Amino acid sequence: MKNAIVVGGGINGLVASNYLQKNNFNVTMIEKNSYVGGACIKDKILHNNKEIYFPKGATVLGMMQKFVFEETGLSQKIKTFYPKSPKLVYFPNYSEPTKIFQNINDLKIELKEKWGENGNIEGFRNDENKVIKYLQEIYKSGDSPNFNRAEKLLGKELTEIWIKGSAFDLLNRYFTSEKTKLYMGMTVTESGPASIFDEGSAFTIPLMDSGSIFNGYWGFVKNGIWEVTEKLFDINNNLGVKNLLSTQIDNIDKVNKKINFNGKEINYDFILFATDPKTPSLLIDDSDSLKKINKKELIGTSGKITAFFKNPVKWKKANDKEYDTSFRFVFSNSDLYDFEKSSQNTKNNISNYEPGYIQIYPEGAAQRKMGNNENLDKLILFSKNFSFNKKSKDLLNNKNEIISLLSNYIENIDDLVETKFLTPMDLNEQFYFPKGNIDHMTLTKNQNFAKRTFSNNPETKFYQYFNNEDIYYCGAGAFPCGSVAGTPGYMCSKQLIKKYL
Ligand SMILES: Cc1cc2nc3c(=O)[nH]c(=O)nc-3n(C[C@H](O)[C@H](O)[C@H](O)COP(=O)(O)OP(=O)(O)OC[C@H]3O[C@@H](n4cnc5c(N)ncnc54)[C@H](O)[C@@H]3O)c2cc1C
Repeated sequence: MKNAIVVGGGINGLVASNYLQKNNFNVTMIEKNSYVGGACIKDKILHNNKEIYFPKGATVLGMMQKFVFEETGLSQKIKTFYPKSPKLVYFPNYSEPTKIFQNINDLKIELKEKWGENGNIEGFRNDENKVIKYLQEIYKSGDSPNFNRAEKLLGKELTEIWIKGSAFDLLNRYFTSEKTKLYMGMTVTESGPASIFDEGSAFTIPLMDSGSIFNGYWGFVKNGIWEVTEKLFDINNNLGVKNLLSTQIDNIDKVNKKINFNGKEINYDFILFATDPKTPSLLIDDSDSLKKINKKELIGTSGKITAFFKNPVKWKKANDKEYDTSFRFVFSNSDLYDFEKSSQNTKNNISNYEPGYIQIYPEGAAQRKMGNNENLDKLILFSKNFSFNKKSKDLLNNKNEIISLLSNYIENIDDLVETKFLTPMDLNEQFYFPKGNIDHMTLTKNQNFAKRTFSNNPETKFYQYFNNEDIYYCGAGAFPCGSVAGTPGYMCSKQLIKKYL
């Protein structure tokens, strides 16, 4: 039996361990914290002496592939829910939110009426679905992304527009209204300040919709999303994975293929790093790789506020019961140029915070819907754009600015009893994300699709770590991207199973 060492117990390390163990590898997972989960973990506050749990990092589930959810055994252990009600979009000076209907005809009517949209919404969705289908196929088969193969399967035109092209060109091709373009294109900067004018930035749009667990939509996990990593850890334990927590690796001897930690050593046939991309270079003492990584665009610009309310949130508009669990989006930008300016200003540290958009996840309402009645209601405000130079304690004014904006949309803002706030610098400290990027590395031109690799030879060894034999990387910095999905962990383990068995 081959000895596989997985370093890192986040979602990618857990998914990779699961598949490798089931395919007759002898798997040891090493995690430096005393707990698993990485950025998918819980935190708690005390309110009236009662503990209220909330998701510290990741909140919503959506990019996971349905087959991963089922094959790992997770589908047997956790309960999920995703809202079927329309998402609601607010722009300044619009009294009513715009409804993003799942039904295409309803959506066409709504966008025309509210935003004057005269473009090709149906064409956009049809073409996006073709790209998504292609992505889901390569996820499942574990085939590495490749521009030539994409052209063969999708055709030259779709590949140019959706994979190689810029988000700016893609959005202008299908839509006429700046508001539609902003809504459909916001994910381009979800993790970091990727320029919408950069080649390759279009690809993030279908990428973020390529989950299959809820057919491209996003949803919630009963109790909280940390159940995914906690339950997967239990499953892996039962499968026989040897899990070493609170374990700090001292060094790696590549010649004799040994890992040293706490005065002990273990042999490996291969090591799979499911950490941030810098950690392997530090542990194998490879300064060249570290230099190359430091030249990449790493910076993140996402902040997260968790807002706790003593009574269920009452929305001023779209307050019918059916919208309780709808995702809401509040935009401050008015067009794509304004959007780009806010994101680039924070990248260049011109300001600490530039309002862009806030994604509001109704965590508390979703918990109630799943039968989990908690003592406080919770809203998660995933907010753009914060620069990477300040901790949350230094940006309390900006947090208050966001809460004040929220108060335009909520009747009972006085019920707000507590907030928890994280900036990119906090994310770097708490989750070791290089420069605070939730995807471990910005999803930008030279770091997207087939270029989202650290391999010196991506054609044949896509997940290999530079030119290091038997050392691989499958954290959130590798294709396709981060998120509570475990897709890089799955794809890499699939390739390793082919190679070593
Ligand atoms: C604020 C925030 C909000 C987010 N929102 C969402 C969301 O709503 N939905 C979503 O899908 N995704 C979301 N994400 C992204 C998602 O959480 C991450 O992409 C995903 O959890 C990354 O998983 P991973 O396994 O690649 O890495 P990580 O979760 O970062 O895990 C890496 C693990 O490696 C360990 N490690 C590091 N160095 C070593 C070492 N030397 N030895 C041993 N172990 C080591 C770390 O302790 C950690 O446990 C969010 C992230 C953040 C921070």
